[in-house]
Amino acid sequence: MNFRSGERSASSISKEMIPKPLLLVEDSRSVSNIIKTQIEDRWHCDVHVAASFEEAIVLLKSHRKEYFLAICDLNLPDAPNGEIMGLIKRTGLPTIIITGSAEKGEAHKNSYANVVDFILKSQTNSIQYLVEQVGRFYYNKFTTLMIVDDSKLSREMVAQVLTNQNFRVLGANSAEDALVVLEQNPEVKLVVSDYIMPKMNGVQLTTELRKSLDKSKLAIIGLSSDNEPRLGLEFIRNGANDFLTKPFIAEELILRINQNLDTMKYIEVIENTANRDYLTKLNNRRFFYYEGEQIRKNALRTKTPFVLALLDIDHFKQINDTYGHDIGDKVLIEFSSLITKHFSEALSARIGGEEFIVAFTQPIEDVIPMLDAFREDLASQSYEFDGQTLSVTVSIGCNGAPDKTMDGALKVADEYLYQAKNQGRNRVIYQDG
Ligand code: GH3
Ligand code: MG
Ligand code: MG
Repeated sequence: MNFRSGERSASSISKEMIPKPLLLVEDSRSVSNIIKTQIEDRWHCDVHVAASFEEAIVLLKSHRKEYFLAICDLNLPDAPNGEIMGLIKRTGLPTIIITGSAEKGEAHKNSYANVVDFILKSQTNSIQYLVEQVGRFYYNKFTTLMIVDDSKLSREMVAQVLTNQNFRVLGANSAEDALVVLEQNPEVKLVVSDYIMPKMNGVQLTTELRKSLDKSKLAIIGLSSDNEPRLGLEFIRNGANDFLTKPFIAEELILRINQNLDTMKYIEVIENTANRDYLTKLNNRRFFYYEGEQIRKNALRTKTPFVLALLDIDHFKQINDTYGHDIGDKVLIEFSSLITKHFSEALSARIGGEEFIVAFTQPIEDVIPMLDAFREDLASQSYEFDGQTLSVTVSIGCNGAPDKTMDGALKVADEYLYQAKNQGRNRVIYQDG
């Protein structure tokens, strides 16, 4: 079967584990096999298949509580007229309908609020779309959206549409309230805002939000029942990503939300690719030079501390030679997570093979004990990889003296690192400010 719906696939969704099973009700074995295999491959999520209405009853009796979603064919040999939806409705399970008829799909969608989507069997790419929708639905629960509207009724209507898609939804009854809610819930990814509200309107709210959050951090969709065509322009000019005129159909809002969230995901992927080290996921050298320079200049200007520490793993070449390059890589990954654990407040990066840097804005008297604690923690661990146990130490050179340039500051830290190596490794050597 070749079936498809109009929207492009959400290829940006990551391949993480979906731990819960879902129910697939489909009488054609060949179709259910393809869907089951693709969903399991893509999402590592168990798919329970019912080939008839009767089998669906049996599976639901014993597994209803485990399922997060159902996918239902409306036409089954023992229930040819969509009777399956009566059964599903009683369970309250969110459902994606697969059907040969757009009218039937639409009718069922209108009669059961928990229909996530319906997909037409007859078109190309539909299985791919279905597989993507399953992941999208599951991962939506980790995405928080906020609706800003002074009308409780419209707020609740939009909230209903979005909670049906499994999003986490917060509400605000004014622009002022929205600013407070956002402050308390920085995880909000997207705001849907009405235009006309008392005191501050939707465009003013957008302007206010854009002072601190750009489009890669927060998406804004403007709404208005006002048929003034220029309002959309106003929203966009002041930083909204998108605009919809009320009344709108639910699918259009969902589509635009998904599209904006996808764009944010792509930006995140691009940023991570540009700024992070592929192996350890720490910041890379390029990012460190950019970000670290801002911090360094700010410290110079405000005469506050800026401390650089260079960390170099001891005898790393020997680890590679003894245990192999793959285990060397694993050591680098473990070392990096220890850096993240110890120095979460500082700016850290992998700047070379087994060389790392951490920049602190605390006085050096506070930094040295932290570096020593890191060094001791590392030395006390024994790492086990593929049945082999090994331990790792690190030498650290640290510079707390201000310098005209980043390279100058690094050069001093590097001299101290060299001394740490020469004096026997596994130690911190430093110069204070
Ligand atoms: P020292 O104690 O003096 O620092 O000795 P060392 O062996 O740690 O230093 P050296 O600079 O001689 O060797 C670093 C080694 O790190 C050589 C290089 O092959 C290895 N290396 C660099 N990048 C990677 C990587 O991404 N993965 C692995 N496994 N090894 C790497
Ligand atoms: Mg080394
Ligand atoms: Mg080295």
